[in-house]
Amino acid sequence: MGDHVHVRLGQGLSVSEQGELIEHSRCRCGATWTKVFDADGEDPDRPGPS
Ligand SMILES: [Zn+2]
Repeated sequence: MGDHVHVRLGQGLSVSEQGELIEHSRCRCGATWTKVFDADGEDPDRPGPS
């Protein structure tokens, strides 16, 4: 196995329990990634100080 440049192929999107958008990607070699995008805007369940 020599140097290998991963090619991230999009595998779709999902949403976490926190409402974050999660992008799933994988390479032909089997490596996988997840990229989390913080939810924008309202944050109804965010714990606050009060
Ligand atoms: Zn790869």
